[in-house]
Amino acid sequence: MSDCIFCKMLKNEIKISSIFEDEFVLAFHDINPVAPVHVLIIPKKHINSMADMTDEDSRYLCALTNAARVIAAQLGIDKSGFRIVANTNDDGGQTVHHLHWHLLGGRRMMWPPG
Ligand code: 5GP
Ligand code: ZN
Repeated sequence: MSDCIFCKMLKNEIKISSIFEDEFVLAFHDINPVAPVHVLIIPKKHINSMADMTDEDSRYLCALTNAARVIAAQLGIDKSGFRIVANTNDDGGQTVHHLHWHLLGGRRMMWPPG
């Protein structure tokens, strides 16, 4: 999608320093972190949100999960713990409409979320 900020990152039109990449996903630090560790993991395909995924997109879910596991270990929050968030559409608080997972850690998370 030409006006999607995350697609621009994937096409290198916006420079980011990635911390993980494989065939299906790319990960980088959030520009506005809400926790000591705040990483965004995005599929290398424009999918508007979790609600827009199809059965054929399931390989992206596997890749997102695997990336979260590897990055959590890489950044040393696998044992202390972390949270995965996929804000979805308006009530979910999604602001960038290219599917992404937030990997949050490095502090104790609250429940219920706000
Ligand atoms: P959402 O609100 O859609 O769940 O999450 C979007 C996230 O993208 C926000 O946490 C926001 O800080 C992050 N973000 C928006 N623009 C940029 C950017 O240009 N670079 C990076 N690294 N993160 C961004
Ligand atoms: Zn996109």
